[in-house]
Parts: sequence; structure tokens; C-alpha cells
Amino acid sequence: PEAFLSVRDLRVRFSTEDGIVNAVDGLSFDVERGKTLGIVGESGSGKSVTNLAVLGLHNPQSSKVEGDIILDGQNLTATSEKQMEKIRGNKAAMIFQDALTALSPYYTVGRQLSEPFRKHTGASRKEAKARAVEMLTKVGIPQANMRFDDYPHQFSGGMRQRVMIAMALMCDPELLIADEPTTALDVTVQAQILDLLKDLQQEFGSAIIFITHDLGVIANMADDLLVMYAGRAVERGSVREVLRAPEHPYTWGLLSSMPRLGGDINEALLPIPGSPPSLLNPPSGCAFHPRCAFTDKVSGSLCSGERPSLGDGRASACHLTPEQKQTIFIDHIKPRL
Ligand code: SF4
Ligand code: MG
Repeated sequence: PEAFLSVRDLRVRFSTEDGIVNAVDGLSFDVERGKTLGIVGESGSGKSVTNLAVLGLHNPQSSKVEGDIILDGQNLTATSEKQMEKIRGNKAAMIFQDALTALSPYYTVGRQLSEPFRKHTGASRKEAKARAVEMLTKVGIPQANMRFDDYPHQFSGGMRQRVMIAMALMCDPELLIADEPTTALDVTVQAQILDLLKDLQQEFGSAIIFITHDLGVIANMADDLLVMYAGRAVERGSVREVLRAPEHPYTWGLLSSMPRLGGDINEALLPIPGSPPSLLNPPSGCAFHPRCAFTDKVSGSLCSGERPSLGDGRASACHLTPEQKQTIFIDHIKPRL
């Protein structure tokens, strides 16, 4: 099927005092209707920047976006800010990590849900209120009718997150971008919100982009997976494929730095050594090479000398041979997971 959102060779550059930062450096992906694409990576990998750019929420003064972002047949990179505003109200919506960044403390949640809806649809005050109460109920706010005139601070963290999801759903978005939507919540509430998102997707058939640093969350949320490192995709495939037979050393690192099932929650097995690279001065060749434990398996100085490319479909951007990608994982990584 035709992708609902198709991103091709996306590049996002920031000018800083110290030079140009290539925050996203040639990224391509597709999301179908009714499907969830998980984007996973450490902070600074470009996953949030990518999605702000998709919705035109980057700062045009300090950043430059290139490439094609095609949403339902319309190229968003050639779209005016006015049209983008319309798209953000109708076709696409974003759920942030912290509801307080999306909700204003000064207005009631009812007003914050219904005003943009009225602006976009021309609905009456009464219709907008009915819709807001319906959405608040749908996301599990008890007695939504009575909470309509409450302010964000009168809700608990988990309930505020639900309010933000309700706000995102007001205009029936066909694309929902959720950026670490449950990171700030405790595990039980987190599970409830994730279930809620899945139910809502079933009901509305939206395409979802789910951004997280947590592969465990991805495992039961997403259909497809994109692993990002230093502004590029290093591995792509269905969640099943990538989690069962991951091919890229960085993905191995992410998997082995997850807490063990039943183990101490803070106990990571094999944390990835070092830290994510500076995008001001990214490493040559494969950007992961300063942290990679497998460069000696690749002939010559290919890892630091030549940037590996990511093929189409199920793919990983790494100079190891297809056999090595399988056997190293099965022989050395899997037994330790
Ligand atoms: Fe490691 Fe080399 Fe593969 Fe990069 S290309 S992940 S450095 S083995
Ligand atoms: Mg982020």
C-alpha cells in the first residue's frame, strides 16, 4: 500500500556559534495508515528533530530543512506556514513527553481543547465542548464533563498526559507523532497510556510515529522500527525482524543495555561505552566506529574510512558481511541477553 507519510533524504541543519550541526543527515522512511513506526535512539540521535521538521515545528530562523516530506500526497517542504498550521490542526498532531509543554497553565483544559477545534472546523461553542468532553472521556478522564473547566495543574501527571492525547485527537488526526509520551510517568500509568494509544489507533486508524529511547516500549507498540544514530538511520525493518535478528552493532548495544527481564531494573547488561558523538564534528566513516567493538572484524580501515549506506527494506548500515551480522549476534550477543 501507498505510504501515508513518506520522508525522503531529510536533512536538518542548525547554524550554531561553533559551526553547522547536521542534526538529521539524509533520512528516509515511510509510515502507512493504521501502522506504527517506532523511531529509537539515544538523545541527540535526531529522532525528535526529525519529527518537529515533519510537522514544520522547527525554528526556520536557525535551522534549514531539505528533502521531501510527503503527507497524503502533499509535499510539506513546499508548504506555506499558514497551510502547515492547517495540517497540524487537521491531519497531524503531536503528543509530547511532558504535557506541560503542550498545555498552557493559564487556560482551562476545556478551553484549550475546544478553541483550536472551533478555529479549524467552525464548530459552535456547544459542539466544541461536546467534542472535548467526548475525547476526554475516551482517553479515560473520569467525569470529563466536570473537569472541563479545570486547569492543567489540577490534574495528576498521568491524567495531564491523557488530556494532551485528547487534545491531539480533537481533530481526528490521520498522523499522530508521539515523542517519548510516557517517559515521565511511572510504569503502571505508562502501560495504561500505551494501551490507550493502541486502542485509539484501532478506532481511528491513524498512522503513528512513536519516538523513544526504550526498545522495550517499542516491542509492543510498533509495527516497524527505525534505529537512529548521529542523525542517520542505521537499521530498519519490522519490529519482529529487528528484535529477533538485529544486525547493527549499535542495535546490539541498545538491546544489551536494556534491563534484564526480572532483573534489577537499573541493571544494564552491556552499556554502550562512550557517548553519542558531537554532530558539529561527527566521526569519519561509520559514525559509530569510536564506540564499536567489532571494527576489527572489518577489513582495513573501512569503518573509519567509509560511511556505510542503508539499503532499502530490511537493512542495516554497517560494513560487516551479512554472515557476520548474523553469526556475531547469535554467537556473542544473544547468549548474554
Ligand atoms: Fe561497527 Fe564498522 Fe559496522 Fe560501524 S561499520 S557498526 S564501526 S562494524
Ligand atoms: Mg527527544
